[in-house]
Amino acid sequence: MTTSDPALSDLIQADPRKVAVANETIRLLGLSVQGEETISVSDPATGRVIAHVPDLDAHGALAAVDHADTAGRAWARTTPRQRANVLFAWWEILVAHTDELAHLITLEMGKPLAEARAEVKYGSDFVRWYAEEAVRPGGNFREAPDGGAQILTRRSPVGLAVLITPWNFPLAMATRKIAPALAAGCPAVIKPAILTPLTTIYSVELARTAGVPDDLIQVVTTSDAAAFSAAVLRDSRVRKVSFTGSTQVGRTLLKIASDQILRSSMELGGNAALIVFDDADLERAVDGAFAAKMRNGGQSCIAANRMYVQDGIADAFVEALSERLAAARVGHGLGDGTVLGPLIDIRAVAQMQALTDDAVSKGATLRTGGATYDSDGYFFAPTLLDEVSATADVAKVEIFGPIAAIQRFVTEDEAVARANATEFGLAGYVFTDSLDRAFNVADKLETGLVGINQGVPSNAAAPFGGVKQSGLGREGGAEGLEEYQNIRFYNIARRPTH
Ligand code: NAD
Repeated sequence: MTTSDPALSDLIQADPRKVAVANETIRLLGLSVQGEETISVSDPATGRVIAHVPDLDAHGALAAVDHADTAGRAWARTTPRQRANVLFAWWEILVAHTDELAHLITLEMGKPLAEARAEVKYGSDFVRWYAEEAVRPGGNFREAPDGGAQILTRRSPVGLAVLITPWNFPLAMATRKIAPALAAGCPAVIKPAILTPLTTIYSVELARTAGVPDDLIQVVTTSDAAAFSAAVLRDSRVRKVSFTGSTQVGRTLLKIASDQILRSSMELGGNAALIVFDDADLERAVDGAFAAKMRNGGQSCIAANRMYVQDGIADAFVEALSERLAAARVGHGLGDGTVLGPLIDIRAVAQMQALTDDAVSKGATLRTGGATYDSDGYFFAPTLLDEVSATADVAKVEIFGPIAAIQRFVTEDEAVARANATEFGLAGYVFTDSLDRAFNVADKLETGLVGINQGVPSNAAAPFGGVKQSGLGREGGAEGLEEYQNIRFYNIARRPTH
């Protein structure tokens, strides 16, 4: 269904002053597009082209490996304190450019400006965190149990890291990888998603301004991701791949990485269950569900994909969440008061419509939304589907959009079993006022992370990552540094003492 209500179309307007800030930032980037091949970057709220970036082929990607490898040799010899100081300088300059970064994120990705600012905070937090961790590279000492040796463990940089990021958090997904790589003493070649390369290019420019050696971080923009990974991941100078994106692409990359037995970190797709028990605080549950569903327009790997609500609280919860969704202002991310921006592309809009239609045809009740807008941008209304059948597509696939899909349940065991009935295992959410139940259910959820009575669990200090087919490895926390380190040990013989 398309709504051509002019009141709705009028909302999809950007504030011209904010567009000017974003355009000035793009101008400052001075993207020197070499060669004839370029990729255009568009504003998903209008479909308008906003910039062009180079379209590098495999030769260009290998040249980036050359540069990073050369710069990386000197970087690996720096002291932890030197690396920390450079990262602190980068963090400070990112924070000082919050405005420019946020406007750029909104213009190329679509999220509302307030959320883009929150991403700058979150993304730059990783740089500060790894500035702090750089001086704690780890290593320890232990006695062999038979007393015949002393064992010293040491950590060294894993080597050149290839980083591949998605479009949904253009800054945070980049800094979550670049900062620990640099802190550990590794050079990096990063390939941002082609829909949103500008924020990555800009943040790496800021890194150089802050004193990160010129060639240490290489940004490769290319329309041929497969050629990029085929060339770069088979280059013997590369020792690590860290990928964030879909499980399907992750599988492909793991296969290529197996040729060289590359250290691999995979942050892949999610299918998070959000469980609301009868004893939950209703307001807190609705706030949490709204945030877990609507942040980033639902385009987050930890978005609440399936909402399981216990019978006793279900009517009140559905009523309150429907009202919140219906009141959420849809519009250009640079518009005043926007709560929901556009989706990333037209395919995503078609997918939301198909999921809604399929769910309704299988018995779901459409409580609000379910409509596209008469606009050149890629908008879909905040939507709530109640009493969704477990056989509906929306209950099985990663939605990646603003649809809250509600199923009702009776017992705790039933909720846990249904939540775990997926091959994914990234995030889960539990809303209850019982401490006992919160831990009991969280322990049983087969996920890498659980939000308890809250909808935004990510934090630079936390080891983010999935189990099952949601991935391998962790990003953030002290664990995120280990992903870029080799652990070695020295066995020091002890002279027997008689
Ligand atoms: P995607 O897998 O289509 O693309 C991710 C990145 O991989 C992009 O840069 C893309 O150009 C690149 N890519 C695609 N094919 C490639 C190939 N053969 N070789 C090398 N690179 C290739 O995912 P997307 O649509 O950009 O992002 C959405 C997905 O990312 C969702 O499934 C979401 O759950 C997941 N995601 C996961 C996390 C996490 O931390 N677990 C975070 C954000 C997004």
